[in-house]
Amino acid sequence: MSIPIYTYDAIVVGAGLAGCAAARELQNAGKKVAVITKLHPLRSHSGAAQGGVNAAFSDEDSIELHEFDTVKGSDYLADQDAVEFMCKNAPETIRWAERMGAAFSRTPDGKIAQRPFGGQSSPRACYAKDRTGLTLLQTIYEQAHRSGVKFWDEWYAADIIYRDGKVSGVIAFNIRDMKMAIFNAKSVMFATGGYARSYKINSNAHANTGDGLSIVARHGLPLEDMEFVQFHPSGLSGNGVLISEAARGEGGRLFNSKGERFMEKYAPNAMELASRDVVSRAILNEIREGRGVGPRKDAVFIDVTHLGKELIMERLPELRDLAITFLGLDMIKEPILISATAHYSMGGIPVNIAGNVRKNNNTLVEGFYAAGECSCVSVHGANRLGANSVLEALLFGRYVGKTMVDEVDAIELRVATQEDAQTAVDEINNILSNNGTETVPKLREELQDTMTANAGAFRTKETLEIVIAKVKELRQRYKNIRIKDKSKLFNTELQEAIEFGHMLDYSAFIVESAIARNESRGAHFREDFDTRNDEEFLKHTMGYMNKDGEISLEYMDVVLGKHELRARTY
Ligand SMILES: Cc1cc2nc3c(=O)[nH]c(=O)nc-3n(C[C@H](O)[C@H](O)[C@H](O)COP(=O)(O)OP(=O)(O)OC[C@H]3O[C@@H](n4cnc5c(N)ncnc54)[C@H](O)[C@@H]3O)c2cc1C
Repeated sequence: MSIPIYTYDAIVVGAGLAGCAAARELQNAGKKVAVITKLHPLRSHSGAAQGGVNAAFSDEDSIELHEFDTVKGSDYLADQDAVEFMCKNAPETIRWAERMGAAFSRTPDGKIAQRPFGGQSSPRACYAKDRTGLTLLQTIYEQAHRSGVKFWDEWYAADIIYRDGKVSGVIAFNIRDMKMAIFNAKSVMFATGGYARSYKINSNAHANTGDGLSIVARHGLPLEDMEFVQFHPSGLSGNGVLISEAARGEGGRLFNSKGERFMEKYAPNAMELASRDVVSRAILNEIREGRGVGPRKDAVFIDVTHLGKELIMERLPELRDLAITFLGLDMIKEPILISATAHYSMGGIPVNIAGNVRKNNNTLVEGFYAAGECSCVSVHGANRLGANSVLEALLFGRYVGKTMVDEVDAIELRVATQEDAQTAVDEINNILSNNGTETVPKLREELQDTMTANAGAFRTKETLEIVIAKVKELRQRYKNIRIKDKSKLFNTELQEAIEFGHMLDYSAFIVESAIARNESRGAHFREDFDTRNDEEFLKHTMGYMNKDGEISLEYMDVVLGKHELRARTY
């Protein structure tokens, strides 16, 4: 039976902030566009963003300060031309979202309220209580829908059509009945989000399995700066569910088992509002040196009780609910238990500022774009500042949509054939027919445990070698899996098996890139090379995977600018 072929001007994969913003631009410009999303759009992880979105609005703040904080936060690895573009266009992006209907929290005199966030010189994060992402996602999705964008909800993108330096479509299947379709298009955008699920303790949605990255990498295209995974200081103890930086932004304090406000030792000026990498390492160090709290001594306290019930209920109601639900602790009355959690991925699919995907350092792929957390443009370098990524997703999502509008008419449609779906068809048939002895949940647990223990906020050559060996072993065992559910109806077991294959591939990039970077920069902290080494490593990693899953690395220059290299202290 032949697979249906649908033809569009543009296909966007992903319906978070980046995907919805891009699709709306394309639709409003009269292009025929569809969004493919494995989740209902409103379940996208963007909706979980709590704390805020940055823009230099206030009289005390400036675009240049926003740029400086971002570049310093990135440990000077961000490309300064991209940072400049983002910071300059941030205020207008907030106004754009507001005009579409996003209801931000307000100051008493009616201005958009802004709260302090880590590593920022001025209160800069605009917010809607502690539900900023949900407010924005509801607005952008609603407006994209209203413009007439066609959403293929609960469709899973399994492959791209890529040949001769050009992408001309997406292969996807309907999660309800596993029926496959070929989406033939002049242009394709990936907005598939983050991928911290390869860690056991993480703050991410279950769907954040890095599909987009691994699909791209399997075609021999590069992934950039994959060693830089952000560990957020405050995940709920034991499960990593996020307690937003808003808790520290509003005045939350960190204490160890001796009752010491330990950030005094690590960042005497910025204290709890130092950059995320700095605070995470401080927390983990307190725990390692025996000053942890909780039944397993593997957490520290965050205390917001001094803020009072009224302020907590007004600005942090969601966080309070989370701590009650998962820990049985009420932050109005008592401190709660937190520790660092894998949270955000600075690396991703390399793109230029306009959003075109790179084939290598010098060449672009025709008809292929990316934006949001799955991409690396790179505005976050080695460490992202809080509230800069909702901004990135919204702003670049929208601008990359505009790039696609400008470029799409000049791209010739390469007509798809049935063979284009073969790899995806084979992948599914192999998993369904395989009758091995391994199960995916077991393999996944081993990967996650190993990643958290050995490729976390602290790493060494030895610990990374453990993960590299583990990933190799798991790749072999993955060939020997068996899934029990052989049906075609909502086969989530099959979907999880495909997703685990993706997790293995991008995890290999994380550790291979990390072991080659013999320095410490931002979120990548090598205990055996504990200082930054600009002479050798002020450069982006570009990783390529061959057909056997082996990864080779090249490097790409960082775009420097007016913010000169300095030591990074808080
Ligand atoms: C708990 C939490 C709180 C956060 N808080 C903040 C904050 O306060 N401020 C801030 O700036 N940042 C925050 N972040 C980060 C920020 O929310 C994300 O980086 C950003 O929203 C990502 O948006 P996106 O559009 O790139 O991806 P997402 O919103 O993650 O969307 C990804 C989309 O891709 C689709 N998709 C993925 N794979 C496939 C596939 N194979 N087939 C089809 N569809 C696919 C999904 O269905 C989904 O629609 C937070 C993150 C987390 C986890």
